[in-house]
Amino acid sequence: MTRRFTGSFTQQEALSKSAIAAAVAVLQSGRLHRYNLLPDEAGDVAQLETEYRDWQGSKFCLAVTSGGQALQIALRACGVGPGAKVLTNAYTLAPVPGAIRAVGGDAVLVEIDENLRIDLDDLQSKIASSGARVLLLSHMRGHLCDMDRLMSTCDAEQVTVIEDCAHTMGARWNGMRSGNFGKLACFSTQTYKHMNSGEGGLLTTDDPDLTARATVLSGSYMLYERHGAGPAPEAFADARYDMPNCSARMDALRAAILRPQLADLDRNIARWNARYALVEKRLEAQDRVATINLPAAETHVGSSIQFRLPDFTPDACRAVLEAAASRGVELKWFGAQEPAGFTSAHPSWRYVPAQSLPETDRIMATLFDMRLPLSFSLDDCSLIADLICAAVGEVAS
Ligand SMILES: *Cc1c(COP(=O)(O)O)cnc(C)c1O
Repeated sequence: MTRRFTGSFTQQEALSKSAIAAAVAVLQSGRLHRYNLLPDEAGDVAQLETEYRDWQGSKFCLAVTSGGQALQIALRACGVGPGAKVLTNAYTLAPVPGAIRAVGGDAVLVEIDENLRIDLDDLQSKIASSGARVLLLSHMRGHLCDMDRLMSTCDAEQVTVIEDCAHTMGARWNGMRSGNFGKLACFSTQTYKHMNSGEGGLLTTDDPDLTARATVLSGSYMLYERHGAGPAPEAFADARYDMPNCSARMDALRAAILRPQLADLDRNIARWNARYALVEKRLEAQDRVATINLPAAETHVGSSIQFRLPDFTPDACRAVLEAAASRGVELKWFGAQEPAGFTSAHPSWRYVPAQSLPETDRIMATLFDMRLPLSFSLDDCSLIADLICAAVGEVAS
């Protein structure tokens, strides 16, 4: 009899008792809006901003309604508007080109390499050919490119870098936290990311003017002095008049459940990485599978895992999906013609100018992806990895 995994790939862990107690306290107070505070009260949102700023090691932090909103606000704060070209990785998820489109920009897509990182040679040539002055760098699935080389290229070309850290909250490059390289960084606290408030986002930067602009954009009215990790009021001298108020504030309930999760984040990163290491090791044993190289300079957060089947045809890839599904393993495949679930490829983003990306297309054609929720035990992970190897072996034979 074929073995099967019977767990769920979308079930996250329950929130801790302290997070639940914090949520109940907010509900009992009735003060769910971030600016609805007692005279001497800081509020959960401002406290989350302070705590996240300190954890991240940035100067400022702003909490918003989603990672996608953080991206839009970051782009607008940097002056991206209708018709502006914005460089970004061709391999990412739809909220990234979506944010560029939402502010009226046109995405210029940059190729990736076989280890799923942005191709720095293609970046260099597209900076020159497009004239774009902003790069929205997506650390897709946690894979950091050579950040030293990327920053020296972008600094030399005066390209502003915004980091999409939806998959790298807690990751590091040569010891420096992802998010602290570019001008601004955007994080998501949506259920499937590294902290779970259903929806939510965090924006960090060291720049007081950008923080002021972002804060007013996020819907602060003239209440920005109630923020926890913002700049002095003088930074708002122009922003308070210049920036439209585009309601995207985080509320107290979400902040209340995120604060205890932040305290647990380092421990959870170690738990993800134990799962990742286990699955990676077993996949490496199946010789048709190409795993993704993690560079020595990178401290990865393994909340999902990717692998390629370089010599498989599209039909064989579809057969692997089915063979895995019949064993209870839900794989995502980036080579499908049609967008499905959370997965899509650039040809189906009709809101982005059509572009030729032969390398990205070739790599994504045989690329598979799987979440590693902390609700999986280490034994679950071993079983799942063995089932993937068996599914690949069945199709290959
Ligand atoms: C989830 C995600 C986002 C956006 O986050 P939301 O909070 O869901 O809006 C941005 N970029 C990537 C790569 C993501 O996976």
